[in-house]
Amino acid sequence: MQITIHRATQIGGQITRISTAHASIIIDLGHNLPNRAEDEDVYDNDRAIARITEGCSAILYTHYHGDHIGLFHHVPDSVPQYIGEVAKQVICRKYKQLCFLPNESDQCKYQRALKTASRMHTFHEKQPLRFGDILVTPYFVSHSAYDAYMFLIEAEGKRILHTGDFRGHGYLSKWLLPTIQKYIGQVDLLIIEGTMLARKDETILTETALSQKATELMKKHKYVFVHCSSTDMERLASFKNATRNMFPQRPLLADDYQKDILDIFSATAGEKRSSMGRSSSCFKFGTIYTYRDWNIKLKEWMAENGFTMFVRASDKFHILLDRILPILPIEEKPLLIYSMWEGYINRDDTRNEEYIKLQERFTDVIQLHTSGHATIDALRNVCISTNPRFAILPIHRDKETNFSSIDIPPLLQERIVTTSRKLNNDLDIEFI
Ligand SMILES: [Zn+2]
Ligand SMILES: [Zn+2]
Repeated sequence: MQITIHRATQIGGQITRISTAHASIIIDLGHNLPNRAEDEDVYDNDRAIARITEGCSAILYTHYHGDHIGLFHHVPDSVPQYIGEVAKQVICRKYKQLCFLPNESDQCKYQRALKTASRMHTFHEKQPLRFGDILVTPYFVSHSAYDAYMFLIEAEGKRILHTGDFRGHGYLSKWLLPTIQKYIGQVDLLIIEGTMLARKDETILTETALSQKATELMKKHKYVFVHCSSTDMERLASFKNATRNMFPQRPLLADDYQKDILDIFSATAGEKRSSMGRSSSCFKFGTIYTYRDWNIKLKEWMAENGFTMFVRASDKFHILLDRILPILPIEEKPLLIYSMWEGYINRDDTRNEEYIKLQERFTDVIQLHTSGHATIDALRNVCISTNPRFAILPIHRDKETNFSSIDIPPLLQERIVTTSRKLNNDLDIEFI
C-alpha cells in the first residue's frame, strides 16, 4: 500500500492519495488558503490535476472548504468525485452565486465549476463505498462547515482513519468519541489534522457558550450585525438561537444568498431526526428576511424592535449598509460582531482588507469566535481512542509545529511519522 500526502506541513491545500496494487483513491483536493505566502498554487491548473489524478478510481471530499475542495473543477470528467449530500447543495449554491461576478473570465471559470459540482456523486454517513479493493466509510464530524466527514479506509487488511477537519466543542461534536469507540476502534494508521498546534493561545468556547455570550451582547445592543462564515451552520445557529430565544420580536436578516444557504440547513439539519425521533430546532432558521428599500413595514420593525443581520464583506453589503444605517436612531449604536479567526484582521500574512473595510463602518466592533478545529485535548483523545498500530501522520498544520507536543503516551509518540519512509515492508509513506 502506498500513501502519498501533498503539502502536509501547511494549513489547507492537502491532497492524500491511498493506493493498493489494484485501486487508488484521493481524499481532498485542496487549494492553498488565500492571502498566504504560498498563495500561488502550483496545482491550480488542468494539467497538474490530470497528472495527480491519473489512474485514480475516485476523489472523496471531507467537506466543502476551499482548502479541501478548491481544485475540483480541474478534475477530468473520467474521475468520479464524491461529497456529502448537503455539502453538494451548498457548493452548488455558492458557485451559482460566484457566476454573477462581473469579470467575464471568472464567470466562465465558475460556470464550469458549477457544472462539475452539480455532477458530483454523494455519499451517506456509515454507508461504505467500494472502489476496487478499497472500502471507504464516511463518519460525520463537527466542523465550521456542515456535512463534514472523517473517512475510515479499509484495504489489504489495513484500516486507516483520515479525520479531515474536525472539532470536539461544537453542537454536533457529542458523537465524535462515541462514534470512534463504537464503529471504528483501533486503526493501523491515523491521518489527523493539527491546525490548533500553532494556535494554542486561542480561547476555545463551546458553541453553546458562544451563543450565551451573543445573548449578553444583544441585551446591550438592539441593532446587531454578524460577520461570520456564510456556510458555518453551527455558528449561524448560535446567533440565530441567541436572537430567537431571548429576543423573538427581532427579525433575522440576510441577503438572498445567505437566506438560501440557511434554507438548505433548515431543510436538512433542521429536519434531521435524533434517535429519540425528534428533529432539532437548533438548526431550524425559520423566516429570514431580506432587506428591500420598498419594504416600509420591515424597516419600521427593524428600527423599533432591533434585529440581527448576517453580513458579508462585499461591495453589495456596503451599499446595503448605506441604506440601513441611516434609518437607525443615532442614540442607539449598532454593533458588529466579528465571528471569524482573528488572523484575518491582525496578522500581516493573513490579513483580509475587505474584512477590515467592513469593520471600519462601525464604531462598536466585538470579536466573538471559537475555532472550527480540534483543540489539543481533542487531538489527544482521537489519538488515544484510535490507538494506531503503525503510524500517526499529522497533516493540515503549520510547519513549525510539533505534533508530539499534544502529550500522548510514549508508545504513540514513537508512531508519529512526518517524513517519507517504508513501514513494515508493505506500507510506503510519502510526503510531497
Ligand atoms: Zn481545512
Ligand atoms: Zn475546513
